[in-house]
Amino acid sequence: MAGLALDTLRKTYSGGVDAVRGVSLDVPDGAFCVLVGPSGCGKSTVLRMIAGLETVTSGAITIGGRVVNDVEPADRDIAMVFQNYALYPHMRVYDNLAYGLRNRGTPKAEIETRVTDAARLLGLEAMLTRYPRQLSGGQRQRVAMGRAIVRKPQVFLFDEPLSNLDAKLRVQMRVEIRRLQRQLGVTTVYVTHDQVEAMTMADRLVVMNGGQIEQVGTPIEIYRRPATRYVATFMGSPPMNILSAEAVDGGVRIDGTVVPVAGLTPGTAVEAGIRPEDLRIAEDGLPFRVAFVEELGATRLLHGPLAGTDVAVQVPAGSATQEGDTVRLAIDASALHLFDPATGRRLAQG
Ligand code: ADP
Repeated sequence: MAGLALDTLRKTYSGGVDAVRGVSLDVPDGAFCVLVGPSGCGKSTVLRMIAGLETVTSGAITIGGRVVNDVEPADRDIAMVFQNYALYPHMRVYDNLAYGLRNRGTPKAEIETRVTDAARLLGLEAMLTRYPRQLSGGQRQRVAMGRAIVRKPQVFLFDEPLSNLDAKLRVQMRVEIRRLQRQLGVTTVYVTHDQVEAMTMADRLVVMNGGQIEQVGTPIEIYRRPATRYVATFMGSPPMNILSAEAVDGGVRIDGTVVPVAGLTPGTAVEAGIRPEDLRIAEDGLPFRVAFVEELGATRLLHGPLAGTDVAVQVPAGSATQEGDTVRLAIDASALHLFDPATGRRLAQG
């Protein structure tokens, strides 16, 4: 097994697109690292450079202590799982699993052991004689993973592997991939644009924006203490509410109400972020007229304008507030995330 390191990695495509602009990252041995960000932020390019499917413009990729920039993809000891499975339609599952090993000249008995082990691990024993067209989407996805597993690579790379599955299967496969990775302990880099997938799967979460890393941390660190407004609003569903505010003596003023916060320069404009679950209905606070209610089953979301911005407020199922009601919302200082409106960076507070 091996860790993976990226050092100031850059990629400029011919035509001048700066897809990756100086990405440095350490993925410890055995970690599950998720790269998340909107479409076009450079995630796949990073992954494809690690795999050796794209050349590196500058910077270094190290796997298990060895710089692999100039190592052929086949010799990097990595296995990649794509969203379109890339299975051979004319081959049975067994042969799909065995193909890569046969190509490398692995002895027949060894192939059989590895394929059987992977099939058992993935619950595919009964499927080995089927063709890909005779499998469900989830089973095909498992075969694609099986092909990566039989290689016993040092690093797994996943490129949006679940995007072709329906919502229910996605949730199931998410758990399955995580369980398998823990069991096998193989260092993994997983790319997705889905922030829920990223939150639930990562040991180490990397939020990307415009070819650069915005923040690296555990999912909880990133959720609780987003380093930028971009991260704050990207991670979390519904997203964090952002209100314009002003620093005053001893606090921040949001629409006439002062929330006590220390350490800000009075008179400066700030952006005050607050998550929907951190806004509380209280006796006292900012007036909030509920424009509409979304019933989510376990919780409810109240939508409406607050301090001139449309916000969402999460309240428990069974709470009494209805559309058209006006309530008051309390804002706890401990739940506020303050950002510099000019740079979007989190302000030291507290
Ligand atoms: P993501 O995986 O986050 O959606 P990509 O890494 O695929 O992002 O793309 C990053 C940027 O590089 C985008 O602007 C995309 O249009 C561009 N890009 C990707 N592949 C190529 C290519 N082969 N040639 C030129 N530009 C590309």
